Amino acid sequence: MKVRLKKEIVTMGVPGLDPRSDVGHYVAAEDWNALLEDPDTILIDTRNDYEVAAGTFRGAIDPKTKTFREFPNWFRAHRADLLADGRTPRIAMFCTGGIRCEKATAFVKAEGLDEVYHLQGGILKYLENIPQEQSLWEGECFVFDQRVTVKHGLEPGSLDQCHACRMPLTAEEMTSPHYEHGVSCPHCYNERDDKQRARYAERERQAQLAAERGEAHLGAHMDEIRERKRREREEEIKRQNEKRRAAH
Ligand SMILES: [Zn+2]
Repeated sequence: MKVRLKKEIVTMGVPGLDPRSDVGHYVAAEDWNALLEDPDTILIDTRNDYEVAAGTFRGAIDPKTKTFREFPNWFRAHRADLLADGRTPRIAMFCTGGIRCEKATAFVKAEGLDEVYHLQGGILKYLENIPQEQSLWEGECFVFDQRVTVKHGLEPGSLDQCHACRMPLTAEEMTSPHYEHGVSCPHCYNERDDKQRARYAERERQAQLAAERGEAHLGAHMDEIRERKRREREEEIKRQNEKRRAAH
C-alpha cells in the first residue's frame, strides 16, 4: 500500500526516464543555503500548487502545477525564460522528501541541462537540520498526513486543510462563510457547483460516521495534535469575531 502510493506520487509520465541512473547533484541541507545565495542559481519548487501555498524557499519559482505530471510541460514552456540573461544556467530543485525532485532533475538533465542540483532528503531534512535563524524557508511545509504542515524542527504546523481542494488553510480562512469542513473553502468555493458540494458534504458525513464507529485509526498522538489545533482555531475564531464586533 505504502509503496504503491509512493509510486503514484512520483509518477511524472515521461517514458524512458530512469532517475536512478541520471539524477542531478545531491546537495546536503547544510550546503543548500550557499547554493541558493548564489545569484546564478535558478530555484524551482517541484511540488504542487496546494503544497507551495503552505510555504516555500525564499525566491523559489512556483510552477503552479496541480500534479507532478504537469511539470515536464511547464518546464518546456518556460525553458527559454528560465535560461535568459545569458547566465550559466544552474538549476536547483527541491521537494518534500527528496524523491520527486530526483525525477525532476533527471528530466531536466535529459532536456540537455547539466548543472542541476536537488536538496538531499528534501525540505523535511532541511527543517530538521537547519536552525530557524539561518533558514531560508518561509512558511510551513505541507505533509501528506494528519499534521497537514510541519515547521522547523519538524514541529506540527498551525495550518489545517480543505478536504475538498487540499489547500492549506489559516485560522482566519476558516472563519470565511465559504468554508465548510470537508466541503469547500475560500480557494475552491467558486470552482464547484452545488451538486459537487453536496457530494463532498455526503462524503464528509460518511467519514464522520466511520470515525464515530472507531473505524478511522488515528494514533493517540495525532488526535492530540488535532485537538490542540481545534482549540487554537476556536480561540482564533473567537478573537476574529470580537474584533469584528468591536469594529461595528
Ligand atoms: Zn478548498
